[in-house]
Amino acid sequence: MKRTAHRHGTTAQYTRLQRKIRSAVAGIRGVVRFNAPLSEYTSFRIGGPADVLVEPADVEDVIRLVKQTNEQKLSLFVLGGTNLLVRDKGIRGVVVSLAKLRAIKEESGSVLYAEGGVGMPTLIGHAIRRSLTGLEWAAGIPGTVAGCVVMNAGTRLGEMKDSVKAVRIVLTNGEVLDCLAESISFEYRRASLPVGIVIGVWLQLRPGVRSDIEKVVKDYLRSRRETQPLTLPSAGCVFKNPANDSAGRVVEAAGLKGISVGDAYVSTKHANFIVNQGRASATDVLALIKKIRAQVARKTGVKLELELKLVGQA
Ligand SMILES: Cc1cc2nc3c(=O)[nH]c(=O)nc-3n(C[C@H](O)[C@H](O)[C@H](O)COP(=O)(O)OP(=O)(O)OC[C@H]3O[C@@H](n4cnc5c(N)ncnc54)[C@H](O)[C@@H]3O)c2cc1C
Repeated sequence: MKRTAHRHGTTAQYTRLQRKIRSAVAGIRGVVRFNAPLSEYTSFRIGGPADVLVEPADVEDVIRLVKQTNEQKLSLFVLGGTNLLVRDKGIRGVVVSLAKLRAIKEESGSVLYAEGGVGMPTLIGHAIRRSLTGLEWAAGIPGTVAGCVVMNAGTRLGEMKDSVKAVRIVLTNGEVLDCLAESISFEYRRASLPVGIVIGVWLQLRPGVRSDIEKVVKDYLRSRRETQPLTLPSAGCVFKNPANDSAGRVVEAAGLKGISVGDAYVSTKHANFIVNQGRASATDVLALIKKIRAQVARKTGVKLELELKLVGQA
């Protein structure tokens, strides 16, 4: 048998994998893209290919995909793409984007139900138009509402756990489970949820005054533009804040603003942002992260932990 070196192993292994992948996506009505460059799906504009990237058409499609992926024993990864560093060899198995699950429904008692793929900016725009207050803290966070629950995304004004009433998840066996917020343990930039795909989130908001809500959002967006490098691709904050301190302050104090590896660059505007100045690879970003960690540890004794999620194959 011919044994060709491949990123998936031998040719025989590759053929078997392709068969499994095709079975996993059989009958999917949404978008199915083989060998999809994930740099097109991440805010960092970095990342190798997914074996297959799927945008399910609706919840039924999500359930089918989850069941079939499980049957084929393939791994499944869901992305919104704004807090990720995808390695240069990409992600094996099935990658899911909820880009087509974008409905927002209004329920009684100032509750909004947002499908998992709704972007936070869209959701805030909707809340403003309905004069609903409670999401202003999230102005400027670019992720999906589902990604924001999983990460318990937050700013100095608040965090996701303040707004979530319940979460709808497709479990790995294809069952749909609704979890009340009380049953979820939210911590700093993480939430403990059953394994699966978050397909919807109920948000508990309050009636407010539209012009007041708009003012808070506008002011906060302005302060973010002034302090964060929002015109270049990034994945937001790279490191978690150490206890009682800010990661940006620590990196800046270590004199690391403006250092770079290839096109990966520590922003001079905000030291906890690494930006992609053009053709940065994940390898460049990781080398820069290593440098920052080592120098911060040596100069200040602080061990910085990653906030962004590192995924895929090296
Ligand atoms: C310019 C910029 C500014 C930012 N500012 C902030 C900020 O102020 N505060 C903050 O907290 N974050 C910030 N972020 C980071 C990011 O927007 C948040 O972490 C957000 O919550 C990530 O959402 P996402 O949909 O992009 O998820 P991703 O980054 O793609 O994924 C994060 C994790 O959630 C999982 N996940 C995603 N979707 C689902 C789903 N449907 N079901 C199950 N798991 C899922 C992924 O598998 C991964 O483990 C910023 C990012 C950028 C680029």
